[in-house]
Amino acid sequence: MEKKLDPKHLDLLSFARDAVSLQGEGFLTDWPRLADEQFSKDISAGAVFWHLQGRTVPQTGAADQIWLDLRASVKLPLQCQRCLTPVLETVEAERSFRFVADEATAAALDDEAEEDILVISRDFDALALVEDELILSLPLVPLHAICPEKVPMSAADPEFEEAAERPNPFGILASLKKGPHS
Ligand SMILES: [Zn+2]
Repeated sequence: MEKKLDPKHLDLLSFARDAVSLQGEGFLTDWPRLADEQFSKDISAGAVFWHLQGRTVPQTGAADQIWLDLRASVKLPLQCQRCLTPVLETVEAERSFRFVADEATAAALDDEAEEDILVISRDFDALALVEDELILSLPLVPLHAICPEKVPMSAADPEFEEAAERPNPFGILASLKKGPHS
């Protein structure tokens, strides 16, 4: 019988040693902290897609390193910082984690290692990690590629056109200089 893996309760050691990959999708409502980031419920968010890959990296004279590669994405309605209306942004996360035996090792390595170090667990909630990573990957300034609403100072704005039709003060100055008789 095929062993069913629960991404909320992963044995990271065997997940990495067996080079298991696991993927799935879920409703945003299952990730409440991520769901809280939605600006509007008028646009429905997409499903959360995630992919996990376990792997080991052999070391000479030491135990194999335990790694987890994570990829996740979701389409989330955020607030466009230009027109302040909702924009459906694709949020994507991709990160690799190395797992070490205990907190002290993680703390010792954290300063020197470039990779993200976590403490290994045989009951690891990978979906909570997916949520963390997607929250960290939220765009700082969500923007429409092209805003649906009128934006002040755009050519489509009536006030902007009025401003363009108004005589240019430098133009007036120039005609004054020329004098009324020229
Ligand atoms: Zn916009």
